[in-house]
Amino acid sequence: MKNTAIITGVSGQDGAYLAQLLLRKKYKVYGVIRRSSSDPLSRLEFLNIKNKVNYINLDLSEHLKIIEIIRKIKPKYFFNLAAQSFVTYAYDNPIYTDQINNQSVINILEAIRQFSKKTKFYQASSSEMYGINDRNLKKLNEKSHFNPISPYSIAKLSSYYYVRMYRNSFNMFASNGILFNHESPLRGEQFVTKKIVKGLTEIKFNKKKDPLKLGNIYSRRDWGHAKDYVEMMYRILNYKKADDFVISSGKQFSIKEFINLVCKKLNMQIKWRGKGLKERAFNNKNKVIIEISKKLFRPLDVVYLLGDSSKAKKNLKWKPSKNINPLINDMVDHEIKNLTP
Ligand code: NAP
Repeated sequence: MKNTAIITGVSGQDGAYLAQLLLRKKYKVYGVIRRSSSDPLSRLEFLNIKNKVNYINLDLSEHLKIIEIIRKIKPKYFFNLAAQSFVTYAYDNPIYTDQINNQSVINILEAIRQFSKKTKFYQASSSEMYGINDRNLKKLNEKSHFNPISPYSIAKLSSYYYVRMYRNSFNMFASNGILFNHESPLRGEQFVTKKIVKGLTEIKFNKKKDPLKLGNIYSRRDWGHAKDYVEMMYRILNYKKADDFVISSGKQFSIKEFINLVCKKLNMQIKWRGKGLKERAFNNKNKVIIEISKKLFRPLDVVYLLGDSSKAKKNLKWKPSKNINPLINDMVDHEIKNLTP
């Protein structure tokens, strides 16, 4: 039990940064990875911690195996970060999304209840659970109404309530971090911020000739840095009692504003022309560098997310260290460094 942590989703953006943080704090880290034909450990390698994590080969759908692992290791902390995390994909795969993002969470909670009751459990809940919300509320906090609209967020909301149920009914230390969007150089390639930063960097350095294709650039998000947010996961499990916390930057930008900031950092002039699906961005040579594609719109989009993390700030003594500009600098610098010669 002493200073051991299991992280599911250790090969993902948050899992890699959290593993780094826990190793720095001298924890023995068990990282759950699933078998894959490509290298799932590239992020851990990038952070120089690939050989410091104890790997467990497991798909979250292998319920009996998880029970066995919890029974054997009885970790101090269990961070459940694994998920089918891509909202657009979830619309085409709702049953699979529910299996991983909801039913597997119930299975872990039940295993902890039966075999390792002292384990503290963290669930990666999401601001997507607020869905289409009342803009008059302005900022969303732990008491705001949830109205999920995608298979991803419906499954996440169900597991959020299971975490609360196990906490309240069985007196378990089970907490939800309701995290708003957070990005970093390690963000997965299918996510819009990474797509923008990578695509525009390649266009700027003549590595990409075609325009970048994007969906709804008027969605507004509250973006933070993943490195800041994993610190909060740790603090949530070290708070005096199990509870739920919103983690957000409290600032909001549209995707179009994000693009403009990336162009500024890249020193690229950009001009927008047209409206709706015909809106396009041009560079200083009048070449189209961004197009809108209907195919990339979600069937129903969450267009407005802005979080209020006053509770976390007060109780967990937290302040995000990086706003949007250092985040973009970090992401752009990383892409420039990684450009193929
Ligand atoms: P990510 O980079 O997409 O990582 C997801 C991780 O889950 C990957 O390690 C992936 O493994 C693993 N995984 C997926 N399906 C699995 C399965 N069936 N069995 C075992 N492992 C599986 O996501 P992230 O950005 O780090 O986010 C971490 C968590 O926070 C997720 O639960 C996400 O939904 C939630 N969240 C993220 C944000 C955000 O803005 N980043 C905001 C709110 C909540 P592979 O490498 O094999 O694919």
